[in-house]
Amino acid sequence: MAAGFNEAGALFDTVLIANRGEIALRIRRACHELGLKTVAICSEADRQALHEETADTFLCIGPANATKSYLNKDAILLAARLTGAGAIHPGYGFLSENAAFAEATENAGLVFIGPDVKSIATMGDKIAAKRTMIAAGVPCVPGPDTALPDDPETIERIAQEIGYPVIIKAAGGGGGRGMRVVHQPDALREAFALTREEARQAFGSAALYMEKFLERPRHIEIQVLCDTHGNAVWLGHRDCSMQRRHQKVVEEAPAPGIPDEIIQPVGLACVEACRQIGYRGVGTFEFLYEDGRFCFIEMNTRLQVEHPVTEMTSGIDIVQAQIKSAQGKHLELRQEDVTCNGHSFECRINAEDPDTFLPSAGSVTHVSWPEGEGIRVDTHIHEGYRVSPYYDSLIAKLIVHAPTRHDAISRMRGALAEARVEGISTNLPLLRALFEDAAFAKGETDIHYLEQWLTTWRAA
Ligand code: ADP
Repeated sequence: MAAGFNEAGALFDTVLIANRGEIALRIRRACHELGLKTVAICSEADRQALHEETADTFLCIGPANATKSYLNKDAILLAARLTGAGAIHPGYGFLSENAAFAEATENAGLVFIGPDVKSIATMGDKIAAKRTMIAAGVPCVPGPDTALPDDPETIERIAQEIGYPVIIKAAGGGGGRGMRVVHQPDALREAFALTREEARQAFGSAALYMEKFLERPRHIEIQVLCDTHGNAVWLGHRDCSMQRRHQKVVEEAPAPGIPDEIIQPVGLACVEACRQIGYRGVGTFEFLYEDGRFCFIEMNTRLQVEHPVTEMTSGIDIVQAQIKSAQGKHLELRQEDVTCNGHSFECRINAEDPDTFLPSAGSVTHVSWPEGEGIRVDTHIHEGYRVSPYYDSLIAKLIVHAPTRHDAISRMRGALAEARVEGISTNLPLLRALFEDAAFAKGETDIHYLEQWLTTWRAA
């Protein structure tokens, strides 16, 4: 079901998909189901794969190095012009949260399938994002919504007011980089200086801010869906606490064990924030959750890797809904129409050594996926596919849905046991073991759990 949008208005009939891998296929499927034509782009490293599999128009836009292909704004816009595409879907990663690219797309007379340029820019600056959320009544991590000054005494006073431990974060940071935890006052000055320098070099902005460091939170996020006419709904919540080095490994919906009366006001505050900033399309509010309290950390202004678990529980095709929103259609779905059923898990299957986590490139000699009730596999690999060393190691997402969390765990165990990928190494052994773990099965584990579990699992 592609969420209740009306059928009026359609600004484009061809979508250029500015991405690769499983998400490019996922977007293509959504477009075709909506009767839209698609244009695929690829780098030289992906040319063979696309040539074998695609019935689309496709253009090779540059060499393997992503800065010269999937991140090359001019080449992508030229590809859109040459193929007559009317819109660009950026997927996730690459240019999906790049305000300058969204602006260039619109200046070229094309529709950017994502939020407006201002929303992308505001949420890309974590201080501006925090200020916006506080103004909209979204609960945030304790700490000021202003940049830290250079003056050491003031910084020390701010840390005292927040209370140790604190975390210093770069306003432009991302990918889990540009932050430092400070446990004692005597470590503050050095942590500040190091993070400042890192921010200057890595993110092009030296702005830093400080907030309370939460010691055993869970990562809970809320999916929103908005149109361009001021209508917005939230589609329930996900738990993405199973992380290694701030990278999500397993996600689930709904987040287990959170009372409705605690999460409902947070969901409604997210929707209200979307209305206030004129947000459009899909987005995710990320929170840390500890001791029954939600604290906003950032908003992702794009489709997320883990969107399928919400599709499984809400019955709404999030990618189709995102495209319809970009076409200017009215969201007719009201909040009371959103009902989430059952429980869903997603496992990210990566081409990597399960012990060392080093990427594993090479040819897939055999692949077979589980099938059956409540099982979905989003993937771009097939027998003979060459996993390239140039890009993210995600090769498939295995998703299950069942009436209860307990049933969903059993279903995932069976599905993981059936999944076979040969010729390269994958993290399947790790995922199989994790789904046998008693604490994970019980639920409500915090963001440090997976890394702790990994040390004992590797030792075994
Ligand atoms: P990024 O954009 O780099 O992903 P986030 O602000 O989303 O940065 O934070 C990434 C991760 O860092 C979080 O999922 C959490 O594990 C940790 N983190 C960030 N802020 C805090 C905090 N205030 N307290 C504890 N952990 C935090």
